[in-house]
Amino acid sequence: MAAFIELRDVAKSFGPLKVVEGLNLDVAKGEFLSLLGPSGSGKTTILMMLAGFEDATSGEIVLDGQRLNDLPPHRRGMGVVFQNYALFPHMSVAENVAFPLQMRGVAKAEVQRRVTEALARVHLEHLAERRPSQLSGGQQQRVALTRALVFEPKVILMDEPLGALDKQLREAMQLEIRDLHRRLGLTIVFVTHDQSEALTISDRIAIFDKGKIAQIGTASEVYDRPRNRFVSQFIGETN
Ligand code: ADP
Repeated sequence: MAAFIELRDVAKSFGPLKVVEGLNLDVAKGEFLSLLGPSGSGKTTILMMLAGFEDATSGEIVLDGQRLNDLPPHRRGMGVVFQNYALFPHMSVAENVAFPLQMRGVAKAEVQRRVTEALARVHLEHLAERRPSQLSGGQQQRVALTRALVFEPKVILMDEPLGALDKQLREAMQLEIRDLHRRLGLTIVFVTHDQSEALTISDRIAIFDKGKIAQIGTASEVYDRPRNRFVSQFIGETN
């Protein structure tokens, strides 16, 4: 497997607190990788370091052969979708999606073309003029995803994007994200604490225990052959 994203001996501390240690991780181009683990195991911190919102204390982060450590978030080619990454309430759906393009200085006609195309791709054209408050939770999350996709990032980072949705909608959105991943050939790093979600949605799962990878593999590798007691207990728990 040729690595598209590489984390080399990455560590992160907040003062005396070591949150991530000795992390080596490769993600292939087009792969859907879930970071799974209990609350506080360092998953979000890893995503923040990938996105450039947090600096790694040590180690190297590489995307497509380019070292990212010193690049600001908007130059990393990553789109982010967070559970609480709220849409701008005073803007329409189309304006929300246009925002990252405008921030990057894309010409007006081009912005319009790309927004129309992006909304069509997720079947939201008919909602373009609505405000976020006039949408359902699932529709809002689809708009957030569209906004992350609109500048054609190399990688999509998702932190518990479905955490606020009820079970039925959550399962529908899992299928939708899976489908987008396949249709667009996206590389996705997806954070969740929900074992069944990780099982449904990913190509591979990295299970975290206190800032370290306890096991990484396909769903069946991890579920059928848990490598240690932590993994077998964690995946055996139900939400
Ligand atoms: P997870 O996403 O697995 O729940 P996090 O990466 O959010 O875990 O957090 C890992 C640990 O790092 C937790 O103990 C958390 O309190 C701590 N932490 C996260 N961000 C900060 C911060 N900005 N300052 C201090 N501690 C932090």
